Amino acid sequence: MTTASLPPHERARPLAKGRVKPARDLCSDCGLCDSRWVAYVRTACAFLNQQFERLEEKAHGRSRDLDNADELYFGVHQRMTTARLAAPIEGAQWTGIVSRLGVRALESGLVDAVLCVQQSPDDRFTPVPVLARTPEQVLAARVNKPTLSPNLQVLEQLPGSGIRRLLAIGVGCQIQALRAVQDTLPLDALYVLGLPCVDNVSRSGLQTFLESASRSPATVVHYEFMQDFRIHFRHSDGSAETVPFFALDTPKLKGVFAPSCLSCFDYTNAGADLVVGYMGASFGRQWLVVRNPKGQQLLDLVEAELDLAPVSSGGDRRAAVQQGIEAYDKAIRLPGWLAELVGVFVQRFGPKGLEYGRFSIDSHFTRNALWVRRHHPEIAEQHIPAFAKKIIGRYRLPAA
Ligand code: FAD
Ligand code: SF4
Repeated sequence: MTTASLPPHERARPLAKGRVKPARDLCSDCGLCDSRWVAYVRTACAFLNQQFERLEEKAHGRSRDLDNADELYFGVHQRMTTARLAAPIEGAQWTGIVSRLGVRALESGLVDAVLCVQQSPDDRFTPVPVLARTPEQVLAARVNKPTLSPNLQVLEQLPGSGIRRLLAIGVGCQIQALRAVQDTLPLDALYVLGLPCVDNVSRSGLQTFLESASRSPATVVHYEFMQDFRIHFRHSDGSAETVPFFALDTPKLKGVFAPSCLSCFDYTNAGADLVVGYMGASFGRQWLVVRNPKGQQLLDLVEAELDLAPVSSGGDRRAAVQQGIEAYDKAIRLPGWLAELVGVFVQRFGPKGLEYGRFSIDSHFTRNALWVRRHHPEIAEQHIPAFAKKIIGRYRLPAA
């Protein structure tokens, strides 16, 4: 075979370190460009070529039904439920369903390796993507690294590794690019376990966030924006701290979120077989979306170990979303006492379960649509997907 007849990725080299990535300021550092599969970047990159319909058809055999209220928001699915691992994993982000599933996928022989993200030995928040071959390596990847992670760079290790069946764990932008190059990977089977994701940051952006939100930024080991409208921080001495969303220093934080995340509409990870998050569940539980039969096959690995409960929904998000759009745009910061009061009120009477999920999706999609129209008007029409346009159309947005 001549070089010219080889497929593009066998002729390509990863992009050299320090080179500007093709998506420029919108790059989420998903890692594809650090592998030879950079050869497909123009069509595969989530920020250069938004293609939800094709992605969903490829992964699930059909695209989402925009007239189905749940699919409009949460994507193609055959089942939604909430769960807790009956024996939670110490140190996991929530109860550890994701890590347990990765372990079971290896132990049961379903896959040869799990693509997941460990942490740097020097910094708990610096991600280190790996192809885990043992349960211990999967468990070492538990807990979120709340920073942009170049997960797909480990694709470069696949050729010659002996890995033929892979479980990939990742957030939406990583999974969009992975699905786009899936057919060219040297694999017999690919399973995709997706995490919902919004408002990710670079490592330096994370520092600014921690310094503005926590009483002790240096000791934070874990945090999550939770369904009680508070950010829950855990510190290295085991103590907990909670801060109402409404107390955040919005003027300072407006510049912290990565531009990729301010232009993302894949909050619920449309291309995954199974999604495990928390946003559609009641406080303390995890939220599971089975998108297709492969997703159910993954869930089967751990279902007997789960305390399951049906999804539920309560409250009405719409007025709160509309008020939030205007407050965010004007970068209003509430005084501490008022933020606490609003927090208590919203926690008691605000949206719950799936309605909390819709609240969060509406708030982020409206903010992001406005950001794209202001900062990248040339791509706005093509980049904002049809389902997001339908959701955004329900609100009054400030002028772009
Ligand atoms: P664990 O068992 O602790 O496993 C965590 C897994 O996350 C590990 O396998 C690891 O490989 C993977 N991981 C860690 N950091 C990253 C990263 N930076 N990129 C890709 N993969 C990573 N859920 C929601 O419902 N709403 C949200 O807004 C939301 N935002 C998120 C933002 C980020 C940056 C991340 C990483 C996750 C987010 N999630 C969100 C998912 C949620 O926080 C939990 O990760 C999920 O519910 C699994 O919990 P667990 O205890 O089962 O995970
Ligand atoms: Fe490359 Fe991924 Fe950045 Fe797109 S988001 S330019 S595919 S590294």
